[in-house]
Amino acid sequence: MSDLPVEQVVIIGSGPAAWTAAIYAARASLAPLVYEGEPRGTELPGGQLMLTTEIENFPGFPDPISGPELMERMKAQAVHHGARVVSELVTRVDLAEAPFRVVPSYGPPVLARTLIVATGAAAKWIGLPNELRLAQSGGGVSACAVCDGAMPAYRNRRLAVVGGGDTAMEEALYLTKFASEVVVIHRRDSFRASKVMAARVLSHPKVQVAWNTEVVDVLGDDAISGVRLRDTVTGAERELEVGGLFVAIGHVPNTAFLGGQLVTTPAGYVQVAPSRTATSVAGVFAAGDVIDDYYRQAITSAGSGCMAALEAERWLAHHGEPA
Ligand code: NAP
Repeated sequence: MSDLPVEQVVIIGSGPAAWTAAIYAARASLAPLVYEGEPRGTELPGGQLMLTTEIENFPGFPDPISGPELMERMKAQAVHHGARVVSELVTRVDLAEAPFRVVPSYGPPVLARTLIVATGAAAKWIGLPNELRLAQSGGGVSACAVCDGAMPAYRNRRLAVVGGGDTAMEEALYLTKFASEVVVIHRRDSFRASKVMAARVLSHPKVQVAWNTEVVDVLGDDAISGVRLRDTVTGAERELEVGGLFVAIGHVPNTAFLGGQLVTTPAGYVQVAPSRTATSVAGVFAAGDVIDDYYRQAITSAGSGCMAALEAERWLAHHGEPA
């Protein structure tokens, strides 16, 4: 028998799903242990909201709140109720038998009777240095139009959306409510998006499409002033003045550390039971963007974090104390 500590609930993640799960589990006297991760490139503990400057659609905050502040407050609430937080990434889990072994990057492993996976998804970025700098500083580069598009800085400006999938179509249409003009920048000569979405974009009077075009630089010091574009066929470069750049080239769920031990959807998201958070392994629950490629909102994430904690609590109640 291992002499590693056995935790009732281990939560992996640090976005709204993880902190909401931690608040609920802590209030149920389960003293959850939260692995919140550590900074790595554009990924910060706190998840994608760390790259969102102002949040205007999280209920209860009539004045906008910044993404980092909302995460800080959720974390403080979880800690206040008894959650313990470790600022390390989980590099590996062993789900072959319960209690599950959770291995962080530096500290000792722990055993978990229940596990809540709330590791989110990372927006894909083009990978340009100025793109990432202005995304991190709130300088007009975003990976979520629904989160950021309604901000005053984007009103009546020409805005650019990169991508040719359904997300890019949705973001472009959403932005037409605020922008003077929306330019969809796509690297090929046809959209990957569904026909109906593509048709809506192509027929919208405010939308232009830059076909066969890629963004090779983002211009501007504190705030974006434009983008440098390259024609993927001729190689010709030009500059386009824009007041915002919305990168919509897909998301990747953060599941690598699971080593394929949980069943995933064809798109790689953790599969959960319908309207539940139970995964393919009994005692392991998943919540937030790691299970959701559809809504991707802070509030839906928080809701599923609550569900995961309630399910973990009920699972523990049904399975009694460990022998
Ligand atoms: P996606 O379908 O994978 O599309 C990504 C788009 O970004 C593609 O057009 C791709 O170009 C482009 N792209 C990828 N990497 C790029 C790069 N480095 N530089 C420039 N362009 C790049 O992703 P998604 O649009 O996020 O959609 C994901 C899934 O969610 C899809 O199944 C989609 O149907 C679904 N979804 C559905 C709805 C809806 O039904 N309302 C809304 C949103 C999403 P290429 O085409 O050249 O590969």
